[in-house]
Amino acid sequence: MAAGMLLRGATLLDGRRWEPQSDRDVVIEGGRITAVGKGCSAAQTVLDCRGLTVMPGLIDCHVHLSVTGGPDFLREARDPLAFVAWRAAKHARDTLQAGFTTVRSLGDRDYVTVHLREAVAEGLVEGPRIVTAGLPICMTGGHGWLFGSREADGADGVRQAVREQLKAGADVIKLIATGGVLTPGVQPGAPQLTRAELEAGVEEAHKAGRRAAAHAQGAEGIRNAVLAGIDSIEHGFYLEEDTASLMATRGTYLVPTFSALRNILAHGTSAGLAEYVVQKAATVSTAQVESFQRALAAGVRVALGTDAGTPFNYHGANAQELGHMVEAGLPVARALAAATSEAATLLGLDHEIGTIDVGKAADLIVVDGDPLADVRILADQARIVAVIARGRLLRCTHPARVTGLSGRSV
Ligand SMILES: [Zn+2]
Repeated sequence: MAAGMLLRGATLLDGRRWEPQSDRDVVIEGGRITAVGKGCSAAQTVLDCRGLTVMPGLIDCHVHLSVTGGPDFLREARDPLAFVAWRAAKHARDTLQAGFTTVRSLGDRDYVTVHLREAVAEGLVEGPRIVTAGLPICMTGGHGWLFGSREADGADGVRQAVREQLKAGADVIKLIATGGVLTPGVQPGAPQLTRAELEAGVEEAHKAGRRAAAHAQGAEGIRNAVLAGIDSIEHGFYLEEDTASLMATRGTYLVPTFSALRNILAHGTSAGLAEYVVQKAATVSTAQVESFQRALAAGVRVALGTDAGTPFNYHGANAQELGHMVEAGLPVARALAAATSEAATLLGLDHEIGTIDVGKAADLIVVDGDPLADVRILADQARIVAVIARGRLLRCTHPARVTGLSGRSV
């Protein structure tokens, strides 16, 4: 009998065409997809997927693995580093168990997620593939300074800060273009790093073959970041029509992070959140939905991001964002693409993940139900029957469906 794993008889959503293909087999060997079709020969391990959907592993383009999602984020920013690392490892595992096989962690203290990425890659810790920014770069006193961001001023200062992140092992550069909700004393609408500073930061990232993401909420800051050549606008709460058109033309992604505001507003001060956080979230919430619809009308590309780790926005609940995006007007098929193929393209990993194709990494999930009919089922962990990451079967809630599983690695 051949080695490897066979997913037999699945309804396939391959991540390219969002039409179910029935009775398909997927063969996995050496951590990669080696065949997709009908009547593939039996492998050592067979997972019976008849009546189930197989689709690409989900991708969250905006998380913070080092923080919990508790209300006291200012205290968490001062927790001892070793404790923060253990915490991040737990969050990585929770995320993977929920079917997210790749995340982009956009800002964590002290390079914790750079080292966590290595620990996951070496098999020391169970977690998703991690793309990480290291420290976000903000102006002196800018959004995030209390959470361990790297403060930098002037184009040369930002260049140096970007170079430090690259030296420390960052995969992507995060630049703070405006104020934000969680930092006291700054306003989401206010521009922060200037266009010249953003341009310098983007140039240093691109020179090194890395992408750059901007935390950008107010209109002027969003525009500055887009004109500076940023690859993705994170949040984008006050997006103007002409900037949206510019994003569509340039291929700049929007990562809307609905989950962040929704969870803050669903819990409020009675759950322990500071007054200023709830007030700011309430102020920007309506604008966020309108901006998202403006982006869709202009044809802006969208990738899924939750901002998991922000208050009550828990690691492992990442798929809630799909429901929020659909509710705000994104067609279901596009929401699924935003969580798979589009996200992979934003991360520059579309040659490796995001679709089910021969030669790609075997990052797959097996779902009980049809996500095209109801995208919200992906947020129900009981419906995620199996998670396969880099060819390893990490979670299977229907063990009777598996035969011949001798080791966890195929
Ligand atoms: Zn964030």
